Amino acid sequence: MSFRASVLTLYPEMFPGPLGLSLSGRALERGDWTLETVQIRAFGEGRHRSVDDTPSGGGAGMVLRADVLAAAIDHASSPDDPRPRLLMSPRGRPLDQRRVRQLAEGPGAVIVCGRFEGVDERVIEARGLQEVSIGDYILSGGEIAATVLLDAVIRLLPGVMGNAESGVTESFEAGLLEHPHYTRPAEWEGRGIPPVLTSGDHGAVERWRRAEAERITAERRPDLLASGRS
Ligand code: SAH
Repeated sequence: MSFRASVLTLYPEMFPGPLGLSLSGRALERGDWTLETVQIRAFGEGRHRSVDDTPSGGGAGMVLRADVLAAAIDHASSPDDPRPRLLMSPRGRPLDQRRVRQLAEGPGAVIVCGRFEGVDERVIEARGLQEVSIGDYILSGGEIAATVLLDAVIRLLPGVMGNAESGVTESFEAGLLEHPHYTRPAEWEGRGIPPVLTSGDHGAVERWRRAEAERITAERRPDLLASGRS
């Protein structure tokens, strides 16, 4: 059974975008995952298919209407749809590799892309949207955030990555950042490769990689070590 992604957006032309190329593109062609886009505007009000309105209480910008968004969600996902309903949002729980892996193990996701100032709070409650952030900065819309989330999930789907092993040795999977990589030429601009890597001693290579991963994590992301997941 393939992973089903439904993306609700005012810009369906942004999909599959980068997801149509390379690893995720080939996986899409093979049917390892499917993509449906839903144009929120199709559920807009009146002749102009209006989707937004001014914020209650005043202030700048516009807010996506609850009734319009709910109609789009109900079109994409019936009440017995087992897929989680996500709203890309800077207020959400920050996306991490653990969440990505959970999503990849599931049947898919219904992903709402916000625009303007955001969406009416009532639709978040009424449709059980889980807010997901991709970092502490503000994008102009949820589409790129949804693309980031889907890219991270798709590469973990069964059969998508050529070398199944590379999925588990990467940064974060062991609660550590990854060790440095080298390849040929053996010398470049006067810089060599750490001799242990060409020693043929696999045990020594493993120990070196682990030590380097720990050193780099301690230097750059001590918070990962403190979280005790390694
Ligand atoms: N006024 C909002 C930001 C709205 S940005 C606030 O201050 O919280 C418009 C849309 O872009 C959001 O509705 C969301 O869907 C998307 N977006 C912006 N930044 C994001 C982030 N860091 N992670 C996920 N989605 C984001």
